[in-house]
Amino acid sequence: MARRSAKLVKFNEPFQLVTDDIPSAPPGGAVVKVQYTGLCHSDVDMSKGEKINYSLPLILGHEVSGRVHSLDQLAVNSDIKVGDRVMVYAIRGCGVCSRCKVHKPTFCLNRVRKTIGFTEDGGFSDYLTVADLSLLMRVPETVAMDTACLLPCSGLTSCNAVLSILPTVKEFVKDHGVPEDCAVLLVGAGGLGLWAVQIAREVLPDGIWIVCADRDGGIHVTVGVFGDTASLPLKSFTVHQHKAVGVLVGTQQQLRELLKLVEDGKVKAPPITHHPLESAWNVLQDLRDGKVKGRAVIEVSEPCE
Ligand SMILES: [Zn+2]
Ligand SMILES: [Zn+2]
Repeated sequence: MARRSAKLVKFNEPFQLVTDDIPSAPPGGAVVKVQYTGLCHSDVDMSKGEKINYSLPLILGHEVSGRVHSLDQLAVNSDIKVGDRVMVYAIRGCGVCSRCKVHKPTFCLNRVRKTIGFTEDGGFSDYLTVADLSLLMRVPETVAMDTACLLPCSGLTSCNAVLSILPTVKEFVKDHGVPEDCAVLLVGAGGLGLWAVQIAREVLPDGIWIVCADRDGGIHVTVGVFGDTASLPLKSFTVHQHKAVGVLVGTQQQLRELLKLVEDGKVKAPPITHHPLESAWNVLQDLRDGKVKGRAVIEVSEPCE
C-alpha cells in the first residue's frame, strides 16, 4: 500500500500529486487514515507564501477527519484505539509549560506552535502522522465525518469568537435586561459566519437579535490566522469603550462543547461540497476567488461510515 498526497512544491503553483510509503506512527503518536480535509482560507494564504515563512515542499490541510490507522507502541494503552473515528486538533505547543499542560497550546508560554498543515505535513494526503494522541478527539457515530473535519478549525474559531463576546453581552444584560432591539452583529456569513450565527443562537441569552451585516458592532472580534490590515476608528475605543479582541482557533474544551452542540443537532455545518484530492488546487483557487458557497472539503479516501 502507498500514500497519496497533494504537495505544495512551489508557491502559487498547483499541488503535485505524489505517492510514497505509508508513514509509521511517531513515538507516542498515531497515523490517521484521512477521510475528509476541509479547504480553508488559510490554505489559500499558505499556497501564496506571502504571510508566513515556512519551507517547501509541504502538504497543506489542517481540517482533518478519518479513522485511526495505526498507533505507536507507547500509545497502545491509550483511550484512542485503531479504527476509531476521529477529528484532529491541529495545534500543539511545547507540551511542558503550564498552558500547554492544560491543553491551551495556542497560548504556549514558550511560543512554540507546531501546526498540522502549516509547519508539518497535513491532510491533503490519505495518511496523516499525528505526533500526540491528545490531538485526536473521537467523533460520535451521529456526527457526519465531513462535518467533523470542519469542527477543529472553522467551527471552533467561530465558537471561540462567539464565546469571547459572551461576557460583554452578559454584563450588558445584567445592567439593562434585554431591550426589544438588543442585537449582536455578526460580520460575514461565509464558512465561519454560518457557524457563528447558529452558535450565537445557542449560547447568547434569550431575546437577543443576531444580525448578520457589515462591520463596526461595538466589539470587533478578529479571526483568521493571516488577517489583513484593517483601520479602526480609535476614537470609538475611548469614547464608546469599544473593544477589539483576537481569537486564534480555540481550546479542546471548547471543541468538546461545540461537538456536543452538533451531536445534539443544535448546530449544523454550513453547506458542504465534496471534491477529489486531484481537484484540491483548483478548488483552492475557487475559494480564493470567492466562488465557494459554504465549505468545500476534499474527500481524500472512501467514506468509512
Ligand atoms: Zn482552517
Ligand atoms: Zn507550551
